[in-house]
Amino acid sequence: MVVAQKKFLGDMNTNKKYAIMLYLSGGDGPKVKGFGALEHHESTSVVLPEGMPKDAIDNTITDVVSHEFFHTVNPLKTHSEEIHYFDYADPKMSQHLWMYEGGTEYFANLFQIQEGLINKDQFLERMGEKIANSKSYDDTMPFTVMSKNVLVEPYKDQYRNVYEKGALLAMCLDIELRKLSNGEMGYRDMIRKLSQRFGENKPFKDDKLIDELVTVTGYPQVKDFYNKYIAGNQPTPYAQYLSMVGVDIKKQESQPLFWFIKNPNETDFDQKTNAFTFDDHSALSPFAKSIGFKITDQVLALDGRTVDIKKVQDFIGYTRTIKDGQDVTVTILRDNAGKKEKMTLKGKAILDKMTMETLSFKANPTPEELKLQTQWLTGKK
Ligand SMILES: [Zn+2]
Repeated sequence: MVVAQKKFLGDMNTNKKYAIMLYLSGGDGPKVKGFGALEHHESTSVVLPEGMPKDAIDNTITDVVSHEFFHTVNPLKTHSEEIHYFDYADPKMSQHLWMYEGGTEYFANLFQIQEGLINKDQFLERMGEKIANSKSYDDTMPFTVMSKNVLVEPYKDQYRNVYEKGALLAMCLDIELRKLSNGEMGYRDMIRKLSQRFGENKPFKDDKLIDELVTVTGYPQVKDFYNKYIAGNQPTPYAQYLSMVGVDIKKQESQPLFWFIKNPNETDFDQKTNAFTFDDHSALSPFAKSIGFKITDQVLALDGRTVDIKKVQDFIGYTRTIKDGQDVTVTILRDNAGKKEKMTLKGKAILDKMTMETLSFKANPTPEELKLQTQWLTGKK
């Protein structure tokens, strides 16, 4: 992974040393509130659950550590004054999380396809998941405004979209640049030039970044893209951009389902409490919202049927029999200032549909689309 990253970055990478500190959190060790990693100039500290299978740990480390390592480029070495003179007591935020986090997350996926760690279909699947996940957030909230105000509501709630829509904005800008330059220049080249113009000890002015990007790329169209989709409130036309690189988006609607979150795949099981738990960035289903369910609540039982991991199919089977408008009783565990409290919530069932958008390579792309696709996925000119 590190060798592939160094190849991908070329002369943008100046690290002589980099340490990866991994803490696998088990049941008995210090209490861990969340999993993930934090970037530093020459190291990253990673926290993952010890109970994860080894393969899953390997894959997660590739995704998470590569993301943190790419932060050595952005924002650690290329950043605005807000980051350079960061005031920990009274933080002033930058407008550019789309680049610091989104661009970094895009790199963490792009280097894997360009360096052969994943295949073309796996890469598309990842981008498709980001499109699906981004739908849980406000698509018309300008990313620069969210970024600048991310410490307060309602912007705070949208933060995790930097890893979804943020990465997709970088992807579309990559395609836009390649289209404009006949494949010669991509997002990575733009960041490289920006990092050469600025660097670790020379921050840029936050509101001048877009003018700097026009200067380093030589394309004023970059500013139009920025004004519409990053600083503006227009949803990014993913289908239009993906079509330029020979990729189709197909929409499919799922059967109406009864569940607590919009995407049932983001459900987990807590072995200690014998309850279903949900990813904290998942969107609640209309039913869950209507009964005052919180994303951090755990589901112990439904209409008196307790959750048993050995008979999970029976439980799922029961949810399939639930009809729209039917009375439903949910037994939950709610965290109340560190104490888990058992509670009962009641309401009428609302069945919900999920729209799945699957990305696939066009069977018959035009020669122009195919050329751009190859340049996009290989990084070669
Ligand atoms: Zn990050």
